[in-house]
Amino acid sequence: MILVMGGAGYIGSHTVKHLIENGYEVVVADNLSMGHREAVTTPHFEIADLADKDSLDRVFKKYKIDSVIHFAAFIAVGESVENPAKYYRNNVIGTINLLDVMLANNVKNIVFSSTAAVFGNPEYTPIDEAHKTSPINPYGWTKLMIEKIFADYHTAYGLNYIALRYFNASGCSTDGTIGESHNPETHLIPLVLKAIKGDRENIKVFGTDYDTPDGTCIRDYIHVEDLALAHRLAIENISKFSGTINLGTSTGTSVKEIINIAEKITGRPCPTVFESRRAGDPAILCADNKKAGEILGWHPTHTMEDIIKTAWNWELNKKY
Ligand code: UDP
Repeated sequence: MILVMGGAGYIGSHTVKHLIENGYEVVVADNLSMGHREAVTTPHFEIADLADKDSLDRVFKKYKIDSVIHFAAFIAVGESVENPAKYYRNNVIGTINLLDVMLANNVKNIVFSSTAAVFGNPEYTPIDEAHKTSPINPYGWTKLMIEKIFADYHTAYGLNYIALRYFNASGCSTDGTIGESHNPETHLIPLVLKAIKGDRENIKVFGTDYDTPDGTCIRDYIHVEDLALAHRLAIENISKFSGTINLGTSTGTSVKEIINIAEKITGRPCPTVFESRRAGDPAILCADNKKAGEILGWHPTHTMEDIIKTAWNWELNKKY
């Protein structure tokens, strides 16, 4: 059985759904501080908290767990700058707690949600795994520290790990049953769609003077179902590889392009306001995804249109 920590969250819930559709038995553990109970599609659900080792140990004692996929983390960059203690405690110490309980129960396989934020301001693009890591906020540091802990535990305790560094996770399930629901929402695509729908006054474009063709930031948006597939492939390959893998499409899309595609797909105008740059945004973040292809056999298939279409469908028919 696979334990998915944080399986009630955005990427976790899509991964759980994908694993079940591919015949895996899955137990979700989540404290529901950010996640949604309705997003959990396995019958095996446990309330557990990374801060409470006993709650974790109970899950390992109740189920026969072979591997863990660990999504449970705080993810808001701005908040991590204002309240780093919350981030280091939950993300780093919480993961050490999880590892303690795993090893005590002789479970040695973990797939982990890492992030392109470990790279900070990139020196070249597309970004491969050899690119220097230099986070520019506490959130990115928590993820990089955990990667280092995994590497040391691999050497010392035989922990098998794959840290998947996501670029911009986006889109919702193709069948419309689960989707993205953050509170507060800070991500570009749901905010653009909310502005189009009329739930927000407008979308604020953060910076039009970047060194990119249209002056707005370029990001590598990767469909959450492609990410879900990568987690299954990571589980299936974990005994032959431990390390980090970048997950993106290798194609960049600018903020203005996102707005244009969203207007085309919805057939409605997006009220847009141009603002100055947001602190800490590099001009371009794009993944080199060769390693994911070589090691996992992972090749993303969803297009930018799929991302916006599934996200729009979810925005119109949200269940939570
Ligand atoms: N962005 C924007 N307006 C918003 C939110 C985001 O212009 O209200 C831009 C942001 O500057 C970045 C891109 O959209 O260039 C993606 O931002 P998001 O917060 O979705 O993801 P990030 O790249 O920060 O992980």
